[in-house]
Amino acid sequence: MASQRAYLRLQQMKTAIVLGAIYVILRLEALMEIIVCGAAGGEVTGSAYLVRTNKAQVLIDFGLFQGSSHVDELNVMPPQIDPEKLTAVVLTHAHLDHTGRLPLLTKHGYKKPIFATPATIMMANLILTDSAFLQRADAERWSRRHPKEPPMEPLYTAADVEALNPLYRELDYGQATTVARGISITAHEAGHMLGSTSLEMTIEDNGTKKVVVFSGDLGPRGAPILRDSHSFSHADLVFMESTYGDRNHRPLLETAIEAREIINKAIQTKGKILVPVFAVGRAQLLLYLLAGAFQRKTLPPFPIYLDSPMAIKATQIYREHVELFDEEALAMSRSGELSANLRTLKTCESAAESKALNEVEGPCMILAGSGMCTGGRILHHLRHNLSNPSTKVLIVGYQSHGSLGRRLVDRAETVRIFGDEVQVRASIHTLGGFSAHAGQTDLMNWIGTLAKASPSVVLTHGEDQPRQHLGRKLRDDLKLKPKFPALGETIAL
Ligand code: ZN
Repeated sequence: MASQRAYLRLQQMKTAIVLGAIYVILRLEALMEIIVCGAAGGEVTGSAYLVRTNKAQVLIDFGLFQGSSHVDELNVMPPQIDPEKLTAVVLTHAHLDHTGRLPLLTKHGYKKPIFATPATIMMANLILTDSAFLQRADAERWSRRHPKEPPMEPLYTAADVEALNPLYRELDYGQATTVARGISITAHEAGHMLGSTSLEMTIEDNGTKKVVVFSGDLGPRGAPILRDSHSFSHADLVFMESTYGDRNHRPLLETAIEAREIINKAIQTKGKILVPVFAVGRAQLLLYLLAGAFQRKTLPPFPIYLDSPMAIKATQIYREHVELFDEEALAMSRSGELSANLRTLKTCESAAESKALNEVEGPCMILAGSGMCTGGRILHHLRHNLSNPSTKVLIVGYQSHGSLGRRLVDRAETVRIFGDEVQVRASIHTLGGFSAHAGQTDLMNWIGTLAKASPSVVLTHGEDQPRQHLGRKLRDDLKLKPKFPALGETIAL
């Protein structure tokens, strides 16, 4: 009996040793997986990818979900992300849908590095400070309207945004930087906004080495100010945006010529031109195009007012990073021609300066936020000038359903602003060619140089139709087999 028990114990020990060995072998096997924590399943916003190996956990972007009705449930810390286990964060660019959840990390005690280009760090601070301000305003408004409920807490505060500042580490273009054990990143131009990048990540884990490319948001080729996006030649896996995977934009040149004709008419009739603008990107693009038109004398110089403290700050960041400009913009900036041609530009910092514009006579152009007329100083300019037939409103960006900007585009006869019913006698002009995103042809050209390496391709950052449409083109034209991940899906390397 005793020897039988000893034999059994021996067998159990052997089994335990074998199981332990299997466990060790499995642990030694390379672990390389990427969890898609946003901008998936037909969503465009909330970009975030968690890269996991045996040695590190790196988050690429941590964007805010915007626009849909269930954003409150989505704008949380995803269950897969543990801020204590996270080794590093890397940003592709500063837009809110790529950075807007970062303050949730500091709110949860994250103290490790956040890598980004110097321009992205400055822009992200500007955009996130504004976001914290809007979060607080939203929460206060909700609490005022629901006095019987407990007060609503903002998603994060200005202090959470400030706590990010000591964590930023500068990432240089074209130089490999080790961001965690076994993970290095090289940033390349994405041509989408100042400081924007596509990221080339080299992952090494237990003897295996793979290259993953994150496209970030890609800009249109040949766009003014910014350099064109980098062409990659090798990757094992590519995460690619597909925002405009189903169409091309109207050429920028055509759009610029149309804008010039509208502006010339307004100058002749001494009208005011109101332009609702997004503070970062669109405002600087328009100013640059105006400077070019003044220089070529296709437009006579006339007064332009940049009436947005945030756009003024963003324009200053552009001035501090001219090294990121394309050749033409760099030459114009370095020779002093850019500022010389914009001598009719005045900036309005204070609310009083903004209100004083009500008394200014046309012709003039007022660039003011918000881009979709959902708030900001553009509202009081619209209320004051929409009923004047000599006013022209230039719509230069996307207008979401339900926004005041959308109602203007849809030719509403009257609109309600600050409780007043305002007659729309102004002419509304929608100019579609100023997009900061690559259209289908530019997306296909970008992935075209990588196709020879036959990488696995994962399409994200696109509504379902553009994403599927681009997917079909990748299959038919380039013989690639793209994946369409759902939110939270894990992609193994
Ligand atoms: Zn973007």
